[in-house]
Amino acid sequence: MEDCIFCKIVNGEIPAKKIYEDEKIICFEDLNKIAKVHVLIVPKMHINSLNEVGEEEKEIISYIFEKAKDIAKILKVYDSGYRIITNCGEDAGQTVKHIHFHLIGGEILNWS
Ligand code: AMP
Ligand code: ZN
Repeated sequence: MEDCIFCKIVNGEIPAKKIYEDEKIICFEDLNKIAKVHVLIVPKMHINSLNEVGEEEKEIISYIFEKAKDIAKILKVYDSGYRIITNCGEDAGQTVKHIHFHLIGGEILNWS
């Protein structure tokens, strides 16, 4: 999608510190880390947010959750633990309108 920053990362138009990539998803470091480990797992297909997930999109969402543990292993937080968050809409503070899942860890997360 035009003017979507994450589509541009997917297409290689904007650089990112890539952690993992396959034909369906890409995972890269968040620009503004809030913990020692903070990456974003992003589907290559453009979906605005969780609000747009229906029949056609549900497969990629479950794929992301299946791959998350492999990414956690790459980041060495599989055993220590990690958190996955998706912000949906304004009140949640969603700033990029291309669905993404924050994977956060590498330290004790004292916030709820
Ligand atoms: P949110 O939409 O609030 O769930 O979060 C969007 C996240 O994307 C923020 O944590 C930003 O730091 C991150 N972000 C924005 N632009 C980039 C970029 N070019 N590369 C990596 N992370 C980014
Ligand atoms: Zn996009």
